[in-house]
Amino acid sequence: MAIIASNFKTNHTRKSTASFIKEVDEFIVSNKIESEVIVFPTATSFDFIKTQSNLKIGAQNAYPIENGSFTGEIGTQQLDEFNIRTILIGHSERRHILNESQATIAKKYEFYKALGYKIIYCVGEPLEVKQSGLEKTLEYVYSQFDGIDINYENLILAYEPVWAIGTGVTATNDDIEAVHGAIKKRINKPLLYGGSVKVDNVREICSIESVDGALIGTASWVADDFKQILENTK
Ligand code: PGA
Repeated sequence: MAIIASNFKTNHTRKSTASFIKEVDEFIVSNKIESEVIVFPTATSFDFIKTQSNLKIGAQNAYPIENGSFTGEIGTQQLDEFNIRTILIGHSERRHILNESQATIAKKYEFYKALGYKIIYCVGEPLEVKQSGLEKTLEYVYSQFDGIDINYENLILAYEPVWAIGTGVTATNDDIEAVHGAIKKRINKPLLYGGSVKVDNVREICSIESVDGALIGTASWVADDFKQILENTK
């Protein structure tokens, strides 16, 4: 059974999010999709999503706090209002654009782990590291586990090479196999691949033995495409 996740990033309105979720929720039933489906919409849409039962809604980000003075952030007081119990931590855009350090990420991880959240934890190397070979790539990726309890029961990992995210350049099956195989030997947790996963390559990627599903940005934002992705991986 695959795990298929859609990361909306900074896309969709409340209205388009609500209709996307409704459509996908219904599709899961009508097409007997057995995969675990998770959608990460923007936090502004949480109150607009009607109760749905066949997929999980997750937070793309939240601060490791219940509430307090952290301008621009949300905490568990806000997440609790919408029964959000799933969170994305360590995404490349938060590491590289928002400059989240490994220490900050580990603090977030520890906080949400203590509350029992399902955590999708992302790792992945930038292009210059990839170009210096597999050994360096693995060294870099392993360093992104500093301070992370890899034995946490509600942990799902996502390997997302930075050079593949939003670029249209998907990692080759060999690249994926090499990194996933190595991570899997160390960490026995579900491991998703992310980085330019598309409607027409998702089936092949998910058929790689060490791939347990996909974390998808761009190609998942149109409901019909996401439904096709679910159909191709069911
Ligand atoms: P992408 O993004 O599918 O657009 O490459 C993946 C991600 O950032 O999770």
